[in-house]
This record gives sequence, structure tokens and C-alpha cells, in this order.
Amino acid sequence: MRRIIVAANWKMNGSVDLVNDLVGGISSGLASLENAVEVVIIPPALYFRDVQARITVDRIALGVQNVAQWQSGAYTGELSAEMVGDLGGEYVLVGHSERRQLFGETDAIVAEKVARILASKLTVILCVGETLEEREAGHAQRVVSAQIQLALAGVEGDSWNRIVIAYEPVWAIGTGKTATAEDAQAMHLMMRGLLAELGAPAEKISLLYGGSVKPDNAAELFAEPDIDGGLIGGASLVAEDFVSICQSV
Ligand code: PEP
Repeated sequence: MRRIIVAANWKMNGSVDLVNDLVGGISSGLASLENAVEVVIIPPALYFRDVQARITVDRIALGVQNVAQWQSGAYTGELSAEMVGDLGGEYVLVGHSERRQLFGETDAIVAEKVARILASKLTVILCVGETLEEREAGHAQRVVSAQIQLALAGVEGDSWNRIVIAYEPVWAIGTGKTATAEDAQAMHLMMRGLLAELGAPAEKISLLYGGSVKPDNAAELFAEPDIDGGLIGGASLVAEDFVSICQSV
């Protein structure tokens, strides 16, 4: 059985008041949930401990949106994977399209971060996805395949158990446009085949879909056989919507 995961990427949003309302609302909404979904909250790192203090249900784990590719030292402004583990975090997002586009995060840097996160015994949520131009040119699968191969080239053995991949078409993030369930499933099937070729235990690796997932489209996406949950941006900032998405699993 693969783990079904719904992760909340808050991006650069939040305040102490929002943390209190949102995590309180999500915790109480999930308290009576009967499915086996694992929930990951990924707030701005500055609010990590506030979020942690407000969680009241076991199924919620915590993550961060980015770490440095280095272990420690003179890297002003950066956070290390070791620090995340030290505070009880379990997940780290890597390769989000906003980091790739706005902060110059290349596939080589993504690969270094993956190695650092795995060395710290945390779980990687690797984000991959094509731009609209790449999809329209018919290159979507080639782009995603290359991103996965470059990012995960150094992964071996038990470390595969700490890899999660989120397919997030860039044109669907924050735009209100979602891939159809069929298109998302086709990409996930390709990714699972690729993982098998790379020597990974492909049937055990959770593959999430992200890109304008909302309460009204989550169930259809999650019903696909190779979609094992979602990475949720905008809708994760509204407790009712996020809980409803978790209920769709
Ligand atoms: C994201 O940022 O990873 C994301 C999927 O955002 P949204 O749900 O807002 O499209």
C-alpha cells in the first residue's frame, strides 16, 4: 500500500493569528476524519514552532519549503536540513517551480538538496512539472522525466523510501487551471515507469498532484490509480477547503 499524502504549501503567507486559526481549524476538522490520509503542513519556517504547538492530531506532520544544499556554516539567511530534523520536521519541498523560476534553482542544485535532505533522514517532496510552452510543444513528459532523473540520480537503497514526487504543471500553479484527471494520471504513470527503470521501488513511492487543487476537483484527481494525494497551495490557507480536500481521499 502506498501512503496517501495531502500536503499544504503555505508559501510566503501567514501570521501568528493565521497560524492559530488555520491550524486550529485543520486539527479539529481532521480529528473525526476516518480515511488514512497523512497530512503535511509546510508553513513559512519562521512559524514552524507555532504551527507545531497548535497541532492536536497525530496524522499531521510538518515540513519546510526549502533548505540549503550545504550542511552548515557561513551561509547567511539559509536553513539546514539538520535544523529541520532537530525541530521535529519530517518533510522538505525541493524544486518547486517558484524556486526554480524566481531563485535560479537548477536541477544540479535540486540534486544537491535532495542528497542533503536524505542524509539528514528527512523525506523529500520533489516538485517537477512543465511550463505551458513545453506542454504545447509536446515535451511535457520529456521535461518531467529529465527533472526526475537529474534530481534523483544519487538516490539508492532505503533512501527511496523517503522520496515523494509532486507533479505540478507550472501553468496550473495558482492559476485556477488544473490538469485533467486523465492528463495527470498519464504523467503519473510515466513517472512510476521511470522510477522502476531507475531501480526504485516504484509501486511504493507516493506521487502527488499539485496545481489549483480545490474541494471541487480533488476527488476526481485522487480517484486516479497513480495519484496518491496532492500538494495544495492556495486552498491550504482556508481550513474548511483544506479539510474538505483531505476528506476527498
Ligand atoms: C503549489 O504552490 O505547490 C500549488 C500547487 O499551488 P496552488 O494549489 O495554489 O496552485
